[in-house]
Amino acid sequence: MKPLNLAPIYFDNNATTRVLPEVLKAMLPWFSEQYGNASSSNQMGQLAKEALMAARAAVAKFLNASPAEIVFTSGATEANHMAILGTLATNPLRRRLVTSTVEHPSTLRLLDYLATTGIEIIKISVNAKGELDMAALAEAVNENTALLTLMHANNETGVLFPIAEAAAIAKNQAAAFHTDAAQSAGKIALDVRQLGCDLLSFSGHKLHAAKGVGALFVRKGFMLQALIHGHQERNRRGGTENQAGIVGLGVACQLAQTHIALHGEQISILRDRLQNGILARISFAKLNSTAINVPNTSNICFSGLHGEELLYRLDKAGLIASLGSACTAGGTEPSHVLLAMGLNREDALSSIRFSLSRETTETEVELAIETVVNVVTEMTAALAVVA
Ligand code: PMP
Repeated sequence: MKPLNLAPIYFDNNATTRVLPEVLKAMLPWFSEQYGNASSSNQMGQLAKEALMAARAAVAKFLNASPAEIVFTSGATEANHMAILGTLATNPLRRRLVTSTVEHPSTLRLLDYLATTGIEIIKISVNAKGELDMAALAEAVNENTALLTLMHANNETGVLFPIAEAAAIAKNQAAAFHTDAAQSAGKIALDVRQLGCDLLSFSGHKLHAAKGVGALFVRKGFMLQALIHGHQERNRRGGTENQAGIVGLGVACQLAQTHIALHGEQISILRDRLQNGILARISFAKLNSTAINVPNTSNICFSGLHGEELLYRLDKAGLIASLGSACTAGGTEPSHVLLAMGLNREDALSSIRFSLSRETTETEVELAIETVVNVVTEMTAALAVVA
C-alpha cells in the first residue's frame, strides 16, 4: 500500500493513538541493546527485570493500585478474557454474568460463546443517551451472579458508566466486579479504590503506548484463575514479557497521569468546538449523546447521508475519523451501541465518530470543521440533483 502523501488530520484516537516520542525512546533499547530475558538470572536479564519493575510501579501509580496488583497482558481484549474466564473458573457455583448491551466486542463475543456453554448472560439496556438502566442492573445482580462486567467509557460515544455505583451493587451480592477501562484510561483520572473494582482492564495503544500491550488490575486478595499458565507475572500470565511494550506502557502512564487534568480540559474545549462548529453549520447534524462522557469523543449523526461514503470522502480530503460500526464479511453493519440507544439502522449508518487526543490542535479542529462542512455540502448537493 502506498504511504499517505499528505499529513492527515487524525480524529480516530479511540481506535488507536500515536506512540509518543518519549515512549518510543524508552522502548527502543529493549529491542537491540538490552535484549535480555527478565526471567534470566544473568546481568542482562536482571536489567530487564528491573525495568519491568519500574514500569509496573508506574502503571500501579496511574491506577492508584499497588505494583503486585498489576498483570501485564497483550491488551484489553486479553485482560477482559482473563477477568471474565478467570472469575468464572474460580467461582463454579455462580453461573450468572451481568453486563450491558453496549460493551466492546472483545467482551460481547466472549459472552456469546459463554452463553453456549450454559452461563446465563444478562445484558442491561441503555437509554437514548446511552446511560445504563441502574434499576434493572440492581435487579439483575443476584446471589447466582459470579461477575458484573461493565465498560467504564464507551468506545463509540464516550459515555461514562457510574462504575462506583455499579461496583457497590455487585459487592452487595458478593459478586465480583470488572470494568473495561480501555477508553477511559489516559482520558480521565482512574483510581481503582474509588471505583471499587476487583478487576480493571486497559490497553496501551489507546494512551500513546504501543499496540500489543496492556494490563489487568487484580485487587489484592482477589482469587483469579490464570488464562495462560506459566511462572511469569506471579503465575498469573505465562509467557516471556513484552519487554519494550511494557517499558513504553510505564512511560505512557506516567506522562498521562502528570498532565491528565490539564489535557482533559484542553481536549474537551477542542471537542466542544468541533461538535458545535459542525452542528452550527450543518442543520441536520445531531449529537448522538449528550450524557456525561470522556472529554475526547463526539459521535454525530448526519441523517440521510451514507456514512461509509462520507467517511471515505473525508478520508480522501485528509480527515481521518471512524464509522463507529463494524465491517463484517457481509458488509457494514450498523453499530450495536447506536442501535441499543434506539437509533434506527439508517441513522446508525449515518453516524461518524470523531475522537481527539492531547496532540489535537486548534488548527486541526478548524480544518476538520471546514472539511466536514465542504464534504457534507457536496454530498447533499449531489443528493438534491438525484432527487
Ligand atoms: N475495550 C474497549 C472499550 C476498546 O475500545 C478496545 C479497543 N477498541 C478494547 C477493549 C480492546 O483493546 P485491544 O484491541 O487493544 O485488545
